[in-house]
Parts: sequence; structure tokens; C-alpha cells
Amino acid sequence: MGLALTLGCAGETGTVEALEESAHEFSTAPGEPNHEEITSTALAFLKPAVLKALIAGNVSTDPTFLLLNAAHFDDCNFSGGAAFVAEYQAKAVKALGPGIALLDGDALAMLAFSRSLHAVQDFYAHTNWVELGGDVLVDQSLTAFPVLAPYSSVPSTGFLVVQGDKPKQTALVRDADAPYPEYAIVTVRHRRTTAYGLVSGTVHYEPGDDCPAPVAMTHDELSKDKSSLSDRTAQHEAAKSLAIQQTRHEWCRLNQLAHDAWGDAGTARLAAWVADPSAAPDCTTE
Ligand SMILES: [Zn+2]
Repeated sequence: MGLALTLGCAGETGTVEALEESAHEFSTAPGEPNHEEITSTALAFLKPAVLKALIAGNVSTDPTFLLLNAAHFDDCNFSGGAAFVAEYQAKAVKALGPGIALLDGDALAMLAFSRSLHAVQDFYAHTNWVELGGDVLVDQSLTAFPVLAPYSSVPSTGFLVVQGDKPKQTALVRDADAPYPEYAIVTVRHRRTTAYGLVSGTVHYEPGDDCPAPVAMTHDELSKDKSSLSDRTAQHEAAKSLAIQQTRHEWCRLNQLAHDAWGDAGTARLAAWVADPSAAPDCTTE
């Protein structure tokens, strides 16, 4: 989510307008249910009722967390986005434990897991991961979603997380006059080393902006969250494909975390969500 709105001021009016605009985002309506498609494609092996709950929770993340940039990986808040994913997956795992009644726990776990899926799906649509040539997942571990600390390197690609004030002796470079997608390429030079810089679009109605001015781009300049953006259909498709793969991987991560916490009882709870085990990912290889 995260359209850049031209609002005169923040506050009540801004929130209402932002809510109306947010209906167009990554992009549930009108006519382009991307979060729905990504989730149902990735997790087609689940029971229809489970999939329905996950999709409802995913889509409701936009209005529920309208002003929280972490929930959508906006404003270069990568550490916040990563913490949001880890926090909600931890909530999901907790809800699968023996302390909570079965149905209540399942409902809580589905809602919490769906929040984390929304954020990882937004990651690919709202950042310049695709424009930098990122064609692998941001994380494929089976431990808790990793910390994405400011100016740390993402292991899978070597992209440097651009968040907040740049470290000393570092230059952030972007050619704002180049055409798309070139203008989305951010380079970080530190002493004699150069790396690609990972940024996301700014959304001014969401409090907080960690994008350094020289390389900042608005949500509209960078987002590829709908196919109707005709200059970036290839990037939209690439982002969607990665979002599907990451969503599928998050199922594996959830299973592993549930097993770490509750043993076979944890994975048995999740196995009860599955309709077609033969179509589920092989979590030892995915
Ligand atoms: Zn969103």
C-alpha cells in the first residue's frame, strides 16, 4: 500500500482521504485483486476456509495499518517492516500453542500470519528490489524473519539496506533524470566499495520517513503494485512472482517456527489447514 497523496495537511481529513485512496493499493480494488491472487496462488493447497481467512486478513491489513509504514515496507523502514513480519509470525506461532482453545487459536494464528504475508508481498511491490535486478527471495531461511538493519547487506543479493542517515564516508547516488527503471537504481559507495542500495517509496501520510533525500522516491515513482502502470508491467509481473514465492516460503517458515515452539503438535495444527498435501511445498527444499 502507500499512494503518495497530495493532501494539504495531516490529521482527520488526511486519514479519511488516505483510506479512500488506499482502496486502490497493491491493489485490492477496483478490479485488481493482487494480494488475493498472490495469496491464493501461493497457498492453493490450503482448505478454502483457511485461504479465505488468510486473504481477508491480508487485505484488511491496508485499512487496519493504514498509517503504519512498517506494515507495507514504505518510507525505507526496512528494520520496521522486518520486525513487523517477525512479530506477527511469532504471534501466529503463540496462538498455535496449547494455552489457547483450538478454534480461537487457529483464527488468531491465521490473522497474524496473514498480516506477515501482506508485508512480505508489499516488499517486492514497494521497493526497488526488482529494478536492482533482484530475482531471488529477500530471505529463504527457516528461522525467524531476519532483521534488516540500516546499512546492512542483504545476504541473498548483497543489496545494502538504505535507511536513515548514511554512515560517514558514504555516498548515495541516484540519477533522478533517467527514465524508469534506471532512475530507481540506487548506488551506495563506501570508501572503495560500491553496492546497490535498497530503498522503498515514501508515503507522506504515514508518519516517519527513513529515505535519505538524495535517493528518495515517492510511492508512485517506485510502486509496481498494479498491472495498469503501463511503463512497468514487466516489473509488476516480476514483483508478483517473487511475492508468490515468498508467500509460499513463509508457509514453510511458519511450520518450522511452530515445530521449534511446540514440536509435532505445532505442525499438526498447521497440517489440519491443508486440503491437498501433495500440492504443498516441500519445505526441505523450498
Ligand atoms: Zn500494504
